Amino acid sequence: MNILDEIKLNKVLLSDGALGTILQSKGLKPGECPELWNITHRSEVKQIAESYLQAGSDIISTNSFGASRIKLSQYGLGESTSEINHAAAAICREAAGNDKHVAGSIGPTGKMLLMGDVTEEELFEAFSEQSIALEKGGADIIIVETMSAADEASLAVKAARASTSCTVIITMTFSKDMNGSYHTMMGVSPEEMVISMKEAGAHIIGSNCGNGIREMIDIVRNIRSVDKWIPVMIQANAGIPELIDGRTVFRESPEMMASCVPELIKSGVNIIGGCCGTTPSHIMEIGKAIGR
Ligand SMILES: [Zn+2]
Repeated sequence: MNILDEIKLNKVLLSDGALGTILQSKGLKPGECPELWNITHRSEVKQIAESYLQAGSDIISTNSFGASRIKLSQYGLGESTSEINHAAAAICREAAGNDKHVAGSIGPTGKMLLMGDVTEEELFEAFSEQSIALEKGGADIIIVETMSAADEASLAVKAARASTSCTVIITMTFSKDMNGSYHTMMGVSPEEMVISMKEAGAHIIGSNCGNGIREMIDIVRNIRSVDKWIPVMIQANAGIPELIDGRTVFRESPEMMASCVPELIKSGVNIIGGCCGTTPSHIMEIGKAIGR
């Protein structure tokens, strides 16, 4: 079933948790290209997908967050863009079968339009290329995530809509300022995100990463203050990232995250998962709180 139809049945769906932090725990070295693991460590990547499916995820996302041609070129892998994205989606589809959703992950390119690093055409072309390969590999959803600039996010959504028939999700990353209001690093508020991303053609809008699940309750309320109907997705980090002995540590337990789920649902969320620091145990507990 199309994910939008599932949401219309008033179901709260469960997505998956972190990939990057788990790849690191499986031996991904600093400075290594995580997305190349789709080719070189296929079974490890597939195991992660399977562990989330076992935890109850309705949606699993691909290991392709940094697999735009622009980012892969930094590793000398630009020419492998299609192959890497295709493999990322194929691994998840193989694990998920036809009953679960595969979301092709697209992250920021690291280039800023505002600084003249890149042109709109170059960004659109890069996001189109990535979206096409993800859909061909088996993704039924494209998720544009961890965005902070509205112009880049909007080009990614437009490219995914124009070049695939996938459902398109966009989630941006917010932090709270001293006045208690939320903005991305580039100054976009949740309310502004809703307006600009709907205009770009997003089917589902929300937030990921950030500073823990509690702040997501406010962010969902802000989104719902401007739109009562757009499906909303939240994938929170397991707390505020803390740097301890050169390692990033996330302290929210599965139980702590799950305890915020009822309030998050009351605020109007439709899909819940996790971001950095979350594990299959977090997803399983969140699933229980959803009522699985
Ligand atoms: Zn994150």
